[in-house]
Amino acid sequence: MYDEVISFIRSLFPGKGMIPLHEPIFKGREKEYVNAAIDSTFVSSVGEFVNRFETMICEYTKAGYAVATVNGTAALHTSLMVAGVKDGDEIITQPLTFVATANAISYCRARPVFVDVDCDTMGLSPDALHNFLASRTEQIGIGCRNKDTGCRIAACVPMHTFGQPCRIEEIAEICRAHHITLIEDSAESLGSTTHGKQTGTFGALGIYSFNGNKIITCGGGGVMVTDDPILAAHARHLTTTAKKPHPYLYEHDELGYNYRLPNLNAAMACAQLENLEGYIENKRQLAQEYDNFFASLTKIDFIKERSGARSNYWLNTILLADREQRDLFLQVANQAQVMSRPAWNLLNELPMYSQCQTGPLNNAQWLADRLVSLPSSVRLRNQESYR
Ligand SMILES: *Cc1c(COP(=O)(O)O)cnc(C)c1O
Repeated sequence: MYDEVISFIRSLFPGKGMIPLHEPIFKGREKEYVNAAIDSTFVSSVGEFVNRFETMICEYTKAGYAVATVNGTAALHTSLMVAGVKDGDEIITQPLTFVATANAISYCRARPVFVDVDCDTMGLSPDALHNFLASRTEQIGIGCRNKDTGCRIAACVPMHTFGQPCRIEEIAEICRAHHITLIEDSAESLGSTTHGKQTGTFGALGIYSFNGNKIITCGGGGVMVTDDPILAAHARHLTTTAKKPHPYLYEHDELGYNYRLPNLNAAMACAQLENLEGYIENKRQLAQEYDNFFASLTKIDFIKERSGARSNYWLNTILLADREQRDLFLQVANQAQVMSRPAWNLLNELPMYSQCQTGPLNNAQWLADRLVSLPSSVRLRNQESYR
């Protein structure tokens, strides 16, 4: 049966030897803009393209403010800092995510608390969040305290796994009721929406990544979005070494970071953003073809967007019957040069996070045993140009 799946995937990407999981394409104005950045001599963190990129992100996401950073992890670290996360705070997140989510929390000397995901969205479960908060925390003034550790729950960081929007409206409502700052890790879900609203714009802050394997890339890059002008200004300050504006003096008024996106990368990011909607259309068509195919196979489930959500289908995902079948599939597919990947190891099982508090994680474990990501690149109809 798996041979049948392999030949189907080969038919989706004809003429390829090795079929990668997700490869970038640079068929728009990338070279033109990068050359313009070089010609301008502004290749570092000051330049026309960084500003243009931030404006384009605001227009696309409808967020009030955008602050470009060197990568998505830096955007998340900055978001947590401007949200006021401090040494000893606790942050609720999901165990089924890329390690950067928890690492950014640790950079603030805060600790992740792992709460379960939903099986259909693979993102943080509002029911699990509600249950954890109701049973393990108490409200003190306008804050939330963990009854077991005595620590403040400062923020909640859900992640939209592989581009599928999680139940973000319910999560936002719960966070509001408990006075917990909501920060969306939308690194994988640029362009995904819930009831027409962009993932990344439901909380106080949201971030996107432009790493080489994401839906669009500028080599390395990230951006933080918010509607709050004070948070945006603070983020801009922190990401530019906290230097006070002055024509020639170097004065820094707090511990800052060299996190601003270079103009060279921003040039590429602008060109990629121009094609994002086309890429998403293209990827949604691929997802439809996968869906039609797997509908005829009873032993494999294809994960679809839930009603009210539009997924960017960054990585198409299937669920095998059990862990044994998953391992078998991974072996057969990768042997046949059809790149396929399991889920990340759950973060609570990594050595640096094994001591962290968790709620029940049945769904995350169930998914981690069965989940496989399939080749999901944008398919070019014409090798010469995109569009
Ligand atoms: C890619 C990713 C990040 C980090 O982005 P970088 O640009 O690689 O630093 C953070 N969170 C998740 C869920 C990601 O997939």
